[in-house]
Amino acid sequence: MTNKPNILLVYTGGTIGMIKDYQTNALKAFDFSQIVENIPELEQLSCNIKTISFDEPIDSSNMNTRFYIDIVEIIEENYKNFDGFVILTGSDTMSYTSSAISFMIENLQKPIIFTGSQLPIGDLRTDAKENLITSIEIACARKKDKPIISEVCLYFEYKLYRANRTTKINAEQFEAFASMNYPPLAESGVHLSFSEHYIYKPLKDKKELVIRKKLITDVLILKLFPGITEKVVKSMLSIDGLKGVVLETYGSGNAPDETWFVTLLKEAIFKDIRIINVTQCNGGHVNQGHYETSVALKQIGVVNGKDITTESAIAKLMYLLSEDLSEEEFKSYFEKSLRGEIS
Ligand code: ASP
Repeated sequence: MTNKPNILLVYTGGTIGMIKDYQTNALKAFDFSQIVENIPELEQLSCNIKTISFDEPIDSSNMNTRFYIDIVEIIEENYKNFDGFVILTGSDTMSYTSSAISFMIENLQKPIIFTGSQLPIGDLRTDAKENLITSIEIACARKKDKPIISEVCLYFEYKLYRANRTTKINAEQFEAFASMNYPPLAESGVHLSFSEHYIYKPLKDKKELVIRKKLITDVLILKLFPGITEKVVKSMLSIDGLKGVVLETYGSGNAPDETWFVTLLKEAIFKDIRIINVTQCNGGHVNQGHYETSVALKQIGVVNGKDITTESAIAKLMYLLSEDLSEEEFKSYFEKSLRGEIS
């Protein structure tokens, strides 16, 4: 018997567990068991660590909703026996994946920390060790016998973020992620200091964990740019079976107010396609109706994405589309915070 927390480490792939193939010079995934061998420091943590790896680890560019389901199934099967989960994925799509997992799990009472690294674990200057060790420490952290974190987070380069608030912003620097519209939940310096005020507090009356595995993928992201043509928008919105669109607009949610553009959106909404207005800016929020160029969007029933990230919007869209909601219900669920993704 031991009082040490049990942590499940799940390796899905990504640089953190990659080595260089000296023939091709490209990075490729290797046997996960070597990760633990590569970090003897893990033995010093006061927790029991069990590791699970995808049979065939993936570069996160190959991530898709089938793998999202694999991740939530691993958590579901092990939920009762573990106190926290650390999920290793490639950083490239980590914000998409971790956002989706946050919507797929309801009534979470334990920490799920996503992390990865910019350099492979065996590299001399690697960021992998710090990211991995501190993520495990965060997953173990308890106060008054309760986990400090009970939401889906992303830890990278000394900062813990709410996962569904993050975006990968840098392919070069160790500080690869930002959370422009929500402050970090913890920072790692000499001490690991949690900003308790910003951390999600679970409901007192414990509800059963709910795992949702149905996601609708007939969706697209339409990023506006000056010069976008009617032909392009029309053909995107006429895709057979299309159910939802994340419309990346300018500034505080503005788009061309030319008749052809508004008419195409209106026709799509009439065909029951849900359209979400999300800003292209990294920070700030959509305010439909603030400028003349967003009044029409509001009038025709475009959903206000407020300060949600594109990564989180696409995940929330896939999730809510699977719930068979009326247009009004969809709008009302989308426009409110379900997992802290909207202010
Ligand atoms: N291409 C890698 C991936 O996302 C990069 C990384 O691991 O950070 O899988």
